[in-house]
Amino acid sequence: MTARVLIVDDVPANLKLLDAKLTAEYFDVFKASSGPEALDAAKEQQPDIILLDVMMPGMDGFEVCRRLKAMPETEHIPVIMVTALDQPKDRVQGLEAGADDFLTKPLNDLALFARVRSLVRLKMVTDELRMREATGQRIGALSATSDNFLMAEPGRILVMDDRPTSLKRITETLAAEHNVTVAESQEELMQLASTGDFDLHIVSLTLQEYDGLRLCSQLRSLEATRQTPILAIVEEGDTGRLVRALDMGVNDYLVRPVERNELVARARSQLRRKRYQDYLRDKFQQGLELAITDGLTGLYNRRYMEGHLATLVDEAANTSKSVALLIFDIDYFKSVNDTYGHAAGDMVLKEFAKRISGNVRGVDLTCRLGGEEFVVVMPDTDLGFAMAVAERLRQCVASKPFVLDEEGRTLDVTVSIGIAVTEGAQDTAAKLLERADQGLYRAKRDGRNRVVAEAA
Ligand code: GH3
Ligand code: MG
Ligand code: MG
Repeated sequence: MTARVLIVDDVPANLKLLDAKLTAEYFDVFKASSGPEALDAAKEQQPDIILLDVMMPGMDGFEVCRRLKAMPETEHIPVIMVTALDQPKDRVQGLEAGADDFLTKPLNDLALFARVRSLVRLKMVTDELRMREATGQRIGALSATSDNFLMAEPGRILVMDDRPTSLKRITETLAAEHNVTVAESQEELMQLASTGDFDLHIVSLTLQEYDGLRLCSQLRSLEATRQTPILAIVEEGDTGRLVRALDMGVNDYLVRPVERNELVARARSQLRRKRYQDYLRDKFQQGLELAITDGLTGLYNRRYMEGHLATLVDEAANTSKSVALLIFDIDYFKSVNDTYGHAAGDMVLKEFAKRISGNVRGVDLTCRLGGEEFVVVMPDTDLGFAMAVAERLRQCVASKPFVLDEEGRTLDVTVSIGIAVTEGAQDTAAKLLERADQGLYRAKRDGRNRVVAEAA
């Protein structure tokens, strides 16, 4: 993976050493030797990750980190703070400033590279979501580090650790803010996790009876848990296992003995991240739905139907199967609006959509063309079958009055339907639509509330 790494240190020798190590691992390296320089470089270069020294004259690493996390242009860039200090207090201060990790000098190269790779990979997921979101609508005022994504609701955390004292410490510490569930066995962990009801999984990598790494890899591969962050618990100095865990997609880790404040800070940042990603995913999903569906009825819109129909017609051209198209136009709909009002008209449209879409096969596509016109596209359907379905749908509309409002006023509604079926390899979606439309026109002309098929 080629990632762009910004390294920040006031001591030239440190910069040189890190530069050499990272370059040897094929990372692209940029350097800054003070806080203000680092802020400028981060904005301009948009690195994938920043390695930030804590002790620097003038602006220290904590302050640089806070500022990076406060600027929209840089807040999504992961930060690893690097320091000679190793007091739990400092680690927590770093995490609270928004750092993603806190490593102590002298750096263990393997652990460092694994951490860089893992954070860059995680960043790519968020970048992808941010990009999709930006192409749809502008991202709202909310950002990854915003507290709006946090403590609105307690996090749902699933823990597996077989050391009683450690487990007690973890559950007691987290229970102050979150809902904590403990899994006693591998089966129980997987079964609970597969409900998808958790926001964070905390797993010990040194379980007596189970292989913790294997559990993490299973959590990563299950559909229901793929997106849920994992916080691993590792032994001090167990670099081999830590590196493997990070490479398989574990999001973050804690070293035993687990320090309470650090646990709180790391759990928080994972929860915040998860909620931000969920938010982006939901927005994207909504955007997708808006683009292909009709707001009033929830049916597919015309644009979507046209794409779908073109695909089916192309497919049908190469086989002996045909595609049938039904066009519906509600009879005298204007007078519904004129007599009962636009809201009542909308009720009729919604009810109509429900009756039609509820009475066709799963493979058939129901869409609202616009106004009071609808379409059903039926793959692998011949004319006889299409006629029978259309006749059934016509009756399903005409046989039972439509309810207009809460007072229970009702109205008889009828519909005219035009049908066309693909004929031969030269047929196209546009011609099919045109023929169905001609059928509809004849149905109207011949008195409405009827079905007419139009052959080529
Ligand atoms: P015909 O039997 O010939 O189809 O007559 P019609 O009155 O149904 O046909 P026309 O096309 O003249 O009128 C369609 C009406 O549908 C006009 C328009 O006000 C109404 N309409 C279109 N979209 C909506 C909508 O979203 N909600 C409501 N309430 N009415 C709509
Ligand atoms: Mg019309
Ligand atoms: Mg009409």
